[in-house]
Amino acid sequence: MKSKTLFDKLWDQHEVLSLEDGSSVIYIDRHFIHEVTSPQAFAGLEKRGLPFFRPDQAIATMDHNIPTTGQANPVMGAESGLQVSRLRENCAKHGIALFGMTHPMNGIVHVIGPELGLTRPGMTIVCGDSHTSTHGAFGTIAFGIGTSEVEMVMASQCLLQRRPKTMRINIGGKLSVGVTAKDLILYLISKLGTGAGTGYFIEFAGEAIRLLSMEGRMTVCNMAIEMGARGGLVAPDEVTFNYLIHREFSPSGEQWEQALSGWKLLKSDDDVVFDREETFDASDVAPMITWGTNPGAGIPITGTIPDNDLKALAYMGWNGGEKIMDQKIDYVFVGSCTNGRIEDLREFASYVQGHKKADGVTAWIVPGSKKVELQAREEGIEEILNEAGFELREPGCSACLAMNDDKIPAGKYCISTSNRNFEGRQGPGARTLLASPLTAAAAALTGRISDPRRSVIPTKFGTPSPTTKGDE
Ligand code: SF4
Repeated sequence: MKSKTLFDKLWDQHEVLSLEDGSSVIYIDRHFIHEVTSPQAFAGLEKRGLPFFRPDQAIATMDHNIPTTGQANPVMGAESGLQVSRLRENCAKHGIALFGMTHPMNGIVHVIGPELGLTRPGMTIVCGDSHTSTHGAFGTIAFGIGTSEVEMVMASQCLLQRRPKTMRINIGGKLSVGVTAKDLILYLISKLGTGAGTGYFIEFAGEAIRLLSMEGRMTVCNMAIEMGARGGLVAPDEVTFNYLIHREFSPSGEQWEQALSGWKLLKSDDDVVFDREETFDASDVAPMITWGTNPGAGIPITGTIPDNDLKALAYMGWNGGEKIMDQKIDYVFVGSCTNGRIEDLREFASYVQGHKKADGVTAWIVPGSKKVELQAREEGIEEILNEAGFELREPGCSACLAMNDDKIPAGKYCISTSNRNFEGRQGPGARTLLASPLTAAAAALTGRISDPRRSVIPTKFGTPSPTTKGDE
């Protein structure tokens, strides 16, 4: 039998029809929906007089537009309010489970899927949102789709797609203390470029990936698309299974055992040849930070700002050739579907515990979901944050994108744990520096870009390290 990559195995399992032009109709196991990209698709469905084919395989949440304070009595702009109420109406009409604002299972779509056990190995998962690639951390084919494709899935639970090529990125060795999954993915994008993944689906493999918690793997897969890839995945293993067991919607009892025996088979064949293969050593990775206006503009925190992109330099207000360390920052944003999970908040809290936020720094610490918010309270993270001068907000996409009230003012510098630093992403004129929660914590205490390895302090959450196990 021909050797296959994990991606190809999953694709073949879900292929309903193979067309002459090389494209396929694939079956979709899970469809996540949020308030921004769904209204037009629901309207299209209605216009064509079609029913929502499999509402039980869809899950909806509110995340992009909602405020991250005062959710019990939310104040929203007219457009945001309209999108939120449309989602409510559409879900009620079509019988779709909705985790709306203040619901105990509400949160960012790519945070709640995994934490509720709705994302499971071997699935095909789509959402009208680019960072659907996050779910690939569980050994799924997960990718973002456009509005017309959302409508296609609503109507048929299937999707017409061209099969991407396969790439494997192997990362051998171990990440150093103070270096996280976020640093790893920023490093990979800086080495390979933002177009390297175009036309490919990436499998992340190697010792460094195996040593990551599920949260870390999600961070890596989340940003696979910033390399231009259709998505990224990691073969499931014991770390995956330990994460999923006893989640709300995970199978249980005999069904768990059955599922587990299937999940254990999900891996690429040993002798399979990928269309492209790249290899890196984790020990080469330092804490990373972006200096420019795309996620490929990452440099080690000890590095020098390049001088070859005058437009980006002008936007960022920097001179090329200067050290990035010690540059002043104004805002810190910890959150998003990249780094808004409990492990991220633990890392941030463990770093700031017993210290004080720098004067003049505004910090938004935003849990990725209601469950993360609750857990942060129960574990004492909120208390640590408060004592250090920080405040835990309510869940949402927040300052990841300028669609709600959490906007960074023009000209201000924000260390952000999110995934995109495009011009205006966090607000018109906002200057975004992508980094890990640890690097964000170091900057929050000093008011300047700082190397988190200078003082990694052991606390009750343990010394922050790349092998810290997450929420198991
Ligand atoms: S946190 Fe940011 S990247 Fe993630 S779903 Fe929300 S807006 Fe998109």
